[in-house]
Amino acid sequence: MRVSKMFMATQREIPADAEIPSHQLMLRAGLMRKCASGIYSYMPLGWRAYRKVENVIREEMDAAGAQELIMPALLTAETYQASGRWERFGPEMFRLTDRGGRPFCLGPTHEEPFTEAVRDTVRSYKQLPVTLYQIQHKYRDEKRPRFGVMRSREFVMKDAYSFDMDEEGLDKSYKTMYDAYRRIFDRLGLNYTIVDADSGAMGGSGSQEFMVKSPVGEDGIAYCDACGYAANEEKASCGIPAAVEAELLDVEKIHTPDVKTIDELMQFMNAEPSEFVKTILYNIDGKIVAVMVRGDREINETKLGNLYDAIEIGLAAFEDVERITGAKVGFAGPVGLKEKIDVICDNEVSSMKNFIVGANETDYHLKNVNIGRDFEPTKICDIRNAVEGDPCPKCGKPLAMARGIEVGHIFKLGTKYSDALHCVYLDRDGKEKTMIMGCYGIGVSRTLAAVIEQYHDDDGIIWPVECAPYKVIVIPTKVNDEENMALAEDIYDRLTKAGCEVLIDDRNERPGVKFKDADLIGIPLRITVGRRAGEGIVEVKKRAGGEASEISADEAVKMALELR
Ligand code: ATP
Ligand code: MG
Repeated sequence: MRVSKMFMATQREIPADAEIPSHQLMLRAGLMRKCASGIYSYMPLGWRAYRKVENVIREEMDAAGAQELIMPALLTAETYQASGRWERFGPEMFRLTDRGGRPFCLGPTHEEPFTEAVRDTVRSYKQLPVTLYQIQHKYRDEKRPRFGVMRSREFVMKDAYSFDMDEEGLDKSYKTMYDAYRRIFDRLGLNYTIVDADSGAMGGSGSQEFMVKSPVGEDGIAYCDACGYAANEEKASCGIPAAVEAELLDVEKIHTPDVKTIDELMQFMNAEPSEFVKTILYNIDGKIVAVMVRGDREINETKLGNLYDAIEIGLAAFEDVERITGAKVGFAGPVGLKEKIDVICDNEVSSMKNFIVGANETDYHLKNVNIGRDFEPTKICDIRNAVEGDPCPKCGKPLAMARGIEVGHIFKLGTKYSDALHCVYLDRDGKEKTMIMGCYGIGVSRTLAAVIEQYHDDDGIIWPVECAPYKVIVIPTKVNDEENMALAEDIYDRLTKAGCEVLIDDRNERPGVKFKDADLIGIPLRITVGRRAGEGIVEVKKRAGGEASEISADEAVKMALELR
């Protein structure tokens, strides 16, 4: 490909709304364009890189015996009604109607249509097991689309579904996918960990996530170096600490004017956040619930959502908080609420004595509050995020925390969908049995972004050879110099004929401009044809690092063809 003809525009400035390196670089290198919030088009260079990632996934899925097919993205409401997910998906599902007023959606994930297809095709145990997959666009009206294609509203997912006769079969299918995923992420050169995950709205018994380690990852990972335990923070369980022994003191009401933050409150009361219990009001599918965790802890909305089997969960509106507490926002507490609502208390709080809470009165807090004597929680359970140093749920040693980008997710679904959609087969003895399912997703577009997240420097992307849109770029420094250009064209020609994906930057630009662009778009090998063109000598330089060196054009061609 000739750079002079390539449909591409690189940009030097960092786009204003791009917060993380991969998003910035995908825009700056001209790999994609934003069309609307969370919706992107891929430009030719980006699409090539994207297809590399897709091909690695496809090759490994095929090698693992999964069969590729394609389902529609436009699906009827009925498809999702039998499983209950037409309601469950809530506002994340893009819904539309046809001209006859019939409800449709854009598929957010495809368990139901795959289950229907297998139900209608498979009769006998002889046709099982089977694993099917597709690579296709998914649509989710994310609450916070951000970070480019990391969390977008239209994205590509590789989704696979396995159908087995029994649990033992499922274990095997799951393991096959687990191994395939490892090969995929290994080939892409990603540094990742596999963690236990929450099964959430998908239902089912077990699941694991493939997390690319990255400071910009949206997921927290709790892990233990001592025993190897690793779990998504959403899932990592927090133990129950031993109760503190202390005499119960009398409740005191303290005037706390002008304190806006926990820090200010702690300073004012000369206390530590660990002596304070914050009470946060949530709206869970329309029901207001108070949740209590220690002042320096975070509420885990996944655990809270699971407790209520929630579809939508968010902070309660100001009006609700003011009505229920009888105070401005910031003074909620468990004692003296104006309406009877559920009060969910974290395990850790149940071990505390004489703690500080909001007084349900503007500018007041209560000191020396105790569970049992001053209020009775509706439920005491694990409702917070694990933190660094918490005891490992498996071995008790202190946990460490890291950030990760979830690129893949594998689930043992069991019979959740096959029961709902009557996906059965006839067993050896002629008896009807329900199929056991697994599902396995990879965010293809997110994986591409994750590769960039792990492979870049200040100058641009550093594509691993496996995902590079082109492997080599030939840069003639003087396009008007016949000798220079002839050698560049010759190298380009030889590489093209040998099947190497190669660019030639034949633009009439200064070498500095070309080098900058080559670095930005991250082509693994640069061959510069410069002042020694007459002797057949060129300069080669790897994008991944190392010194530039001068070698003969023949050696440069050989090096390009051997690039791994
Ligand atoms: P997340 O917790 O990040 O929202 P999820 O649990 O909703 O992910 P799954 O339903 O398991 O995701 O989807 C399978 C894979 O699809 C994920 O592992 C992720 O790589 C990818 N994915 C999910 N949502 C998005 C999105 N909005 N944009 C890009 N990729 C996504
Ligand atoms: Mg999601």
